[in-house]
Amino acid sequence: MADPLLDRDAAAAALARVTAAAGPYLDSLAERAVHDPAAGGLLAGLGGPLPEHGAGTAAAVDRLLEIGTATATASSGPRFFHFVTGGSTPAALAADWTAGLLDQNAFARVSSAFAHEAETVVLDWLRDLVGLPPGWGGALVGSATFANFTALGCATQWWGEHRGADTVRDGLAGLPRMPVFSGGYVHASARKALQMLGHGRDAVEVCARDAVGRVDLEGMERRLAALGGAPAVIIANAGEVNAGDFDPVESLAELAARYGAWLHVDGAFGLFAALSPRTEHLVRGIDRAHSVAADAHKWLNVPYESGFALIREPGRLGTAFGMPGAAYLPGPQDPGGGYGLYGPESSRRARSLPIWATLSAYGRHGYRAMVERHLDLAGHLAWRVDEAPELERLADVPLCIVCFRVTAPGLPAAELDRWNRAVGEALLADGRVFCGTTVYGGRVALRPAIVNWRTTEADIDLFVDVVRELAERTRGHHG
Ligand SMILES: *Cc1c(COP(=O)(O)O)cnc(C)c1O
Repeated sequence: MADPLLDRDAAAAALARVTAAAGPYLDSLAERAVHDPAAGGLLAGLGGPLPEHGAGTAAAVDRLLEIGTATATASSGPRFFHFVTGGSTPAALAADWTAGLLDQNAFARVSSAFAHEAETVVLDWLRDLVGLPPGWGGALVGSATFANFTALGCATQWWGEHRGADTVRDGLAGLPRMPVFSGGYVHASARKALQMLGHGRDAVEVCARDAVGRVDLEGMERRLAALGGAPAVIIANAGEVNAGDFDPVESLAELAARYGAWLHVDGAFGLFAALSPRTEHLVRGIDRAHSVAADAHKWLNVPYESGFALIREPGRLGTAFGMPGAAYLPGPQDPGGGYGLYGPESSRRARSLPIWATLSAYGRHGYRAMVERHLDLAGHLAWRVDEAPELERLADVPLCIVCFRVTAPGLPAAELDRWNRAVGEALLADGRVFCGTTVYGGRVALRPAIVNWRTTEADIDLFVDVVRELAERTRGHHG
């Protein structure tokens, strides 16, 4: 086989093979271990030299399915509590395949009116879902990292404008460092975004009042006042990754208003607190922000890669990310223009389709029910932790993350840290459930996050049972 043209009628049959593999794989997710150490050897089957003569469509797809279904991390299943990892709802998964089938370039209206319209609709649905007022716009991007990048790119353009500079044309040359303030909850990806934008990752000045990272509002206000009216950026963290805590967005909005600062909210998963009356107070004040970043591949449960930035003044997107000057491309304001000119990527897939389908399928109420189920499951997990004599909860549970550790009376702090690290490593190696460690307030801890639509109470109970079993097994060396 040498040329795909010779295989041109093979696509539908190849898709049928994927469909045939999908049933057993999806059915297995509920019970399957997160990873199967025994299958690791199969990964070698991906390698070898670049094929000189291809095996043909069917053989290649079969091989991929065989290796993939055996060796994939079952992170879209209900027992993956590491990082903050959602799965794919049935509608989102089917629409993701549809995006592959239609292979749209969501660069602009001129490349796909369909993808452009779907993205416009979806951005407005997301805005509405999280309770932002009409008039906000945005862009779909690959991740919350890119959403932070997009929003802080707009903030950079705004900041330059307020200093009489055009950073889009001239970059940061000749300007002082852009002042950026945040609490200790600031996520590594916001720093990475600042790093990519040329400000450097240490551009963030952290105003924290304790070892956990709670924001020091007075300290931040002193720093803002010291700028003497020069523009600055504040990053509010709506949902931090260790315990799911929130900066007081409303108070930060107040500071931003008083000192004329740009308020950016990183709500990668925490933004979805807006969906439940039980937690909406946590994001009160986001409507006073200038930009908001979030992920759809976390709590919205659409496949990777899916993040979104929402911007109060959407016109800034075209200013910050347009590409004027290429004669064959439309400009951001041209009728043929579109989202490739409103964000960091140019050619891009129609990542609106899974979001459109999942919101169409389950609606606001379906998502509220899912979020509230996860709140209940986090409460159940906290209760199981509190019940277990060798487990100690380290933080309140405002949302969907439970931060705790294994403990025993009389063990020195360093020994406890080593034991908890050992439990974290044992959990990852075991694979029945999946969760890693963090350092919270100076102490090594586990921090399972519950955002997968498939997760039930039985999965949480299994998680606690496995943690206790592995704590016991590793205790010999530490306790
Ligand atoms: C996950 C996360 C990010 C980064 O998200 P990616 O999708 O991995 O880029 C940023 N901020 C917070 C608070 C997060 O939880």
